Amino acid sequence: MWGSGLYFLSNMDQKKLVDRILPTARSVGVSEDLRGWNWHRPPLKPVYDERVPMYAVCSKYCPTSRDIFLNKVVGVSPKPSQAVVLGTALHRVVSTVISSFLDGRIPDFEAWYSEALRSRNVVDQLPGVKDRSRLVWDYVLKNCEIQYVNRRSEQPYASRRDLLATSVPFLVEHKVSGELLGLSGLLSVDCYDYLRGIVFDLKVAHEPKDWYRLSPTGYAIVLESVYEVPVDAGCVVYLWFHGDELSVTKDLFFINDDLRSWWLEERDSKISIVAQKMDPGIPSKCYEDCIYRESCRG
Ligand code: SF4
Repeated sequence: MWGSGLYFLSNMDQKKLVDRILPTARSVGVSEDLRGWNWHRPPLKPVYDERVPMYAVCSKYCPTSRDIFLNKVVGVSPKPSQAVVLGTALHRVVSTVISSFLDGRIPDFEAWYSEALRSRNVVDQLPGVKDRSRLVWDYVLKNCEIQYVNRRSEQPYASRRDLLATSVPFLVEHKVSGELLGLSGLLSVDCYDYLRGIVFDLKVAHEPKDWYRLSPTGYAIVLESVYEVPVDAGCVVYLWFHGDELSVTKDLFFINDDLRSWWLEERDSKISIVAQKMDPGIPSKCYEDCIYRESCRG
C-alpha cells in the first residue's frame, strides 16, 4: 500500500512507526506537563509576554542566537541566501501540488511557475530553480496519483472524497496559532498526517542536523495546545539533488520528553533575548551562510 514519496511512508518507515515509535510512545509515554494542552501552567506557560516566531525558536544556525537579537530587537532584515530562496520555492511547489491534487485541479506547471515563482526576481537570479521545481512537482504529483489509485483499487465503492482523505491524508501548510505558547504570527505546519498523527518538516538540505527535530517537536506541542490531541511522532524530510536526480530521506522519531524540554529551553532563551533586549554577542565561529552576516559582522 505504501509508496515512499516525501510525506508518504515507505515500507521501512511504516515498520519504524508501528514496531518502534508507537510502542515506545505507549510504554514510555510523555510527561503530562510537556503536553501542549497544559500551555497555561509551567513549564509550558511562557515567562514573558513577548512572542517570537517558531523559526526563530527552532533555528540553531547562529551559535549565540545573535540572529534573533538583530532581527527582533534591532530590526535588521535578513538577506536571503541561495539556499533560502531554493527552499522557499520548493516548499511552495510541494504545498501547491498536494493542495491542488486534493482540490482536483492541477495547474499547468509552466503557467503556475511564471505566476507564482518566476515573477519573483530573486528566483530568476538563481540558476536551476525552475528545473528543480519541475522535478519536485512531477515527483510529488506522481506519488499522490499512485497512492490514490492504490486506495481506489482496495476500496472500489468508496467515494472520491473518502479516497482522497485516506490516500493523501495531509494538511499542508496548515495554519495554526502558537500564541498560547508565546509564539508570534500565524504558524504554518509543512504537513500534518492526520491519520497517523505525524508532523512533517521539510528541509531542502542534504546534511542532517539533530536540531532539525526541534521544528516538528514545536509544531506537535502547538497542535496539542490547539486541538487537545496527543501528537507523538515527528519526521524531518530531507530533500536534495544529486545532479539531475532527486534524493529524499526521512528522519522519523518519537517526540519524547527530551525533545520537548529542549524545544522549551530554546523558546525560553530566545524569548528572554527579546524581552531583555540582551545582545548575546558574536561567537568565535559563525555559520558560513548566515543570512545576517553582512549586518552583523560587516
Ligand atoms: S554573523 Fe555570526 S553572530 Fe552574526 S547572526 Fe550570523 S552566525 Fe550569528
